[in-house]
Amino acid sequence: MIDQSKIKEGVRLILEGIGEDTTREGLIETPDRIARMYTEIVGGMEEDAAEHLSKRFHVKNNEMVLEKDITFYSTCEHHMLPFFGKAHIAYVPNGSVVGLSKIARTVEVFAKRLQLQEQLTAQIADAFMDNLAPQGVMVMVEAEHMCMTMRGIKKPGSKTVTVVTRGIFKDNEKLQNTFYQMLR
Ligand SMILES: [Zn+2]
Repeated sequence: MIDQSKIKEGVRLILEGIGEDTTREGLIETPDRIARMYTEIVGGMEEDAAEHLSKRFHVKNNEMVLEKDITFYSTCEHHMLPFFGKAHIAYVPNGSVVGLSKIARTVEVFAKRLQLQEQLTAQIADAFMDNLAPQGVMVMVEAEHMCMTMRGIKKPGSKTVTVVTRGIFKDNEKLQNTFYQMLR
């Protein structure tokens, strides 16, 4: 459970730490606003991907399903700054599929917490393997990290790309190439 009073106290300390006057008009409600905001941006911690992936539909056709360009917003755990971009998920069913909207919901569950992009990519893939048991899954995440673009090396527009393969996508260059071609 999220302890809003601790967040408020922490934000007040940061404001004091940077030399701000916490009683001025623009800042007076800032700790409160940020505390409420955190319940949303890290709310995925209280969610279980299994909830979204448990509703399945049986299929006879086990051809690859790709959901691409799923926009997400996450928070880097090293700097607590946003990173955001698109996730692309392909899986080869093993007799059952999930509703398309549930694929995006699964991304949200893992994006809405303090994250590393590499870990986010793997968690999405593992959630599919664990809950839907497809023949295989491939996940690609492309994201811009504010900790790279507004501070540090300041390279606006640069993107980090991570890929995870599980099941039959592993070591299957032909399947992987199909995935990349479908992204174009
Ligand atoms: Zn960072």
